Amino acid sequence: MNLAEAPAAKSLYFHFPFCETKCHYCDFYSLGREKTKSGDPDRFETAMIREITLRGEAGRLSAPIETIFFGGGTPSMTPPDSMKRITDALFRYASLAPEYEWTMEANPSSIDVEKFRAFRSLGINRVSMGVQSLKGEHLLKLGRVHDETQAIQALDAVFSAGFQNVSTDLLCGVPGQSTADLKAHIERLTSFPIQHLSIYLLTLPPHHSMYPELPNENEQLAHLLLIDQEMRARGFEHYEISNFARPGRRARHNLVYWTGGSYLSFGPSAHSYSKDARVRFKNVSSLHKYATMLIEEGHLPVEWSETLSDSQMELEKWMLAIRLSEGFPASWLASDASRAKARILTEQGLLEPHPEYSDRIRATARGFAVSDALVRELS
Ligand code: SF4
Repeated sequence: MNLAEAPAAKSLYFHFPFCETKCHYCDFYSLGREKTKSGDPDRFETAMIREITLRGEAGRLSAPIETIFFGGGTPSMTPPDSMKRITDALFRYASLAPEYEWTMEANPSSIDVEKFRAFRSLGINRVSMGVQSLKGEHLLKLGRVHDETQAIQALDAVFSAGFQNVSTDLLCGVPGQSTADLKAHIERLTSFPIQHLSIYLLTLPPHHSMYPELPNENEQLAHLLLIDQEMRARGFEHYEISNFARPGRRARHNLVYWTGGSYLSFGPSAHSYSKDARVRFKNVSSLHKYATMLIEEGHLPVEWSETLSDSQMELEKWMLAIRLSEGFPASWLASDASRAKARILTEQGLLEPHPEYSDRIRATARGFAVSDALVRELS
């Protein structure tokens, strides 16, 4: 099957590329205010509406939408009236499935209760708040624009606006961060009725000025194991390498990515995937090019696309299976050699038999910390 014949997408991602300032560790495509020219937000809105229209007219938005993710960048910086024009364009072609999940990423510096209410009235029913740290010196080091007080006020605001499905993001492995800091952050965040927490290990390229200050592997492992222990003790399941959820509150949109499902994405730098066509494609990573291709040239802003080979599919299968707490079926270990490797990894405490499904094997918390190595060994 080629892409033109692929079924309409049920999961959509929208990339909003603007941020207050560029954080020191960020490698997402985003423009801080210092790089944003007057007129950019208007051109972005016009271009995104054009992209939605082209996809809608091609029939790619005709299935009921099960998950939507507004990411970035900082979507919560978008004025609600602009967001409404974008969502109005979407719903000229699309409709929501009855039990949909619609997430918006928010940063504490760009949001208040009125704005949250306005976003909620559009149909957004889940917020993912980029807290990252609750310690001023670490936020400063990371180049975040908010402080601890603003993070707490933003959490108060999101719950006051009526959101019940709220996730927060933290970073671990930050230079100077201790396990006591992390424990204190987890205690503070879980004093709110959050349903989900993502905790990412700070990774930087070797040429980055902060790279020499990163904690060593043992310290990073101590952070990851402490987080696993603290979150599970508070009733969250560690269902993905970096993600923890209250029962029934896993991030459904991200699970589409992690289970190899199809998604269609909009905005500069956004990636899409069609499972049926085995095709992955990416939009251009430049707001200027994105807007020019859509507005002046009138065509989709795709930079490249590729059809996955059998060996790429096999590697993806392992990468996805290792990252989730369901793990993989024991039958995937088809040879004596792979079974012997799995036995050694189990003795090393990196794999374990799944406690609920007798025919499955999964990574332990320690195994999650070295998931790339597990994939290399097993795939
Ligand atoms: S807020 Fe997020 S997307 Fe924006 S610069 Fe910081 S890390 Fe990057």
